[in-house]
Amino acid sequence: MGRVAVVTGGSRGIGKAICAALKADGFTVVANYAGNDMAAKACAEELGIDTCKWDVGDHEATLAGCRKVEEMVGPIDAVVNNAGITRDGTLQRMSYADWEDVMRVNLGGCFNMAKACFPGMKERGWGRIVNIGSINGQAGQYGQVNYAAAKSGIHGFTKALAQEGARYNITVNAIAPGYIDTDMVAAVPEQVLEKIIAKIPVGRLGQAEEIARGVSFLCSDDAGFVTGSTMSINGGQHMY
Ligand code: NDP
Repeated sequence: MGRVAVVTGGSRGIGKAICAALKADGFTVVANYAGNDMAAKACAEELGIDTCKWDVGDHEATLAGCRKVEEMVGPIDAVVNNAGITRDGTLQRMSYADWEDVMRVNLGGCFNMAKACFPGMKERGWGRIVNIGSINGQAGQYGQVNYAAAKSGIHGFTKALAQEGARYNITVNAIAPGYIDTDMVAAVPEQVLEKIIAKIPVGRLGQAEEIARGVSFLCSDDAGFVTGSTMSINGGQHMY
């Protein structure tokens, strides 16, 4: 059996494309998801992979979920922290719950997954962790203090954990996608989206597969010297 990869939020959008890419690379892939059983079932059937439901923002549930994955398919060698949510609004309109939900899932999820999987990677002397940040964590975005803070936090988390993992052959990197054509972006009002696309030098939204190719490289043996880095895949919208 090949290496095992867990992709959080792997049942839809960017995560699903990442699952397909890692499976093609030879990983045994498990897609985690939060609640949409129908999408998870469709993903499992289409890609021929297992899925596992838990909330990555819940520490105990994440530890238990990863233990279950290990019982199903073996030790986890690669983690892609892709699960993410938005609860947009200006500061004035944003509730504390909106702030807390986004921090808990988007940033807390990375910590919870690392706590579950990093010790085993260390013991076995090999690991790959890829955290999905965002252009809006690099540049900020109106109406997203929660999301921008959580995603920006992911970039700091990545650099700090990379330093802990380096001597054990565990690389920790981030990808900062620009605007990608998924359900998350479909929720953006049409006139706002037109203005966003007008600011993307390549003149279009990105495709989930274009993010997946970056993850595929960062999870490969070829990327052993790449750690603590952020790969921006954004059509030239923000040059960091
Ligand atoms: P989608 O909304 O299309 O899919 C989100 C996935 O995350 C689903 O599988 C969902 O599961 C899962 N998920 C949500 N909350 C949790 C949770 N608490 N625990 C476990 N799984 C959860 O998102 P995208 O594919 O668009 O985005 C993927 C990542 O990329 C996110 O981190 C996002 O912030 C980031 N990103 C996206 C960009 C874009 O333009 N789309 C741009 C920059 C970054 P379920 O179906 O069960 O709800």
